[in-house]
Amino acid sequence: MPAAPPKSRGKAAAGKSAAKPAAKRPAKIPSRRRAGNASGFTLAQARRESRAAKQNRAGTIFDRLHAAYPDSHCALDHRNPLELLVATILSAQCTDKRVNEVTPALFRRYPEAAAYAAAPLGELEEMVKSTGFFRNKAKSLQGLGRALVEKHGGEVPRTMDELRVLPGVGRKTANVVLGNAFQINEGVVVDTHVRRLSRRLGLSFEDDPEKVERDLMALLPRERWTLWSHLLIDHGRAICAARKPECARCELADLCPSAEI
Ligand code: SF4
Repeated sequence: MPAAPPKSRGKAAAGKSAAKPAAKRPAKIPSRRRAGNASGFTLAQARRESRAAKQNRAGTIFDRLHAAYPDSHCALDHRNPLELLVATILSAQCTDKRVNEVTPALFRRYPEAAAYAAAPLGELEEMVKSTGFFRNKAKSLQGLGRALVEKHGGEVPRTMDELRVLPGVGRKTANVVLGNAFQINEGVVVDTHVRRLSRRLGLSFEDDPEKVERDLMALLPRERWTLWSHLLIDHGRAICAARKPECARCELADLCPSAEI
């Protein structure tokens, strides 16, 4: 497959009607599934691709994205594991940008787990209101603070099993914290961008985020898992947007079975 040198982007039937004779047959609308790409690689072929070939393609995708986004990193501002855990809980159904607007004041007022544990619920709600779902999020933060104080001496634990049972924390949030606060590659964070790109690139054909994660983990060595997710998120934001992917200027077009060029 031809490999154009990547540029650094820095820091994304008609139905027949008997009553309407001589109607002109409409042109077929090209779907991503049919369109394939310049090298003729299709989603059907991606489904039949061997494990070794897919791993090889995933490695090339990783390298090109790394060249395009050399500064790729977690977009949530934080200075320690607790701040990242809190920011990730707030990022559910909210943009990272909005979370980063809210967290400086939040982190000043609640510098430790004990502060969240002791905070009045109404006060927490007011502080996180603009991130949406604020009642649930405030409740999670208070419960999180209490659980950390009662079970972990106020510290954020470093294992998936301990993290994912904390209030407001699921596998995705635990992966974010383990990978970015502790540099532990436990899994691949699968958010909406990662899921979309995985499917378009023919790396996973699953819908369930945990199954997508399993597929992605099988394609690259463990030490790449955290960055793998950041790179896919950056590319999803910059080029492979949900509604209008910019395939013509995508450095993955010759590797992508969904390329529309
Ligand atoms: S933008 Fe790139 S990754 Fe996304 S569908 Fe187009 S060619 Fe594939």
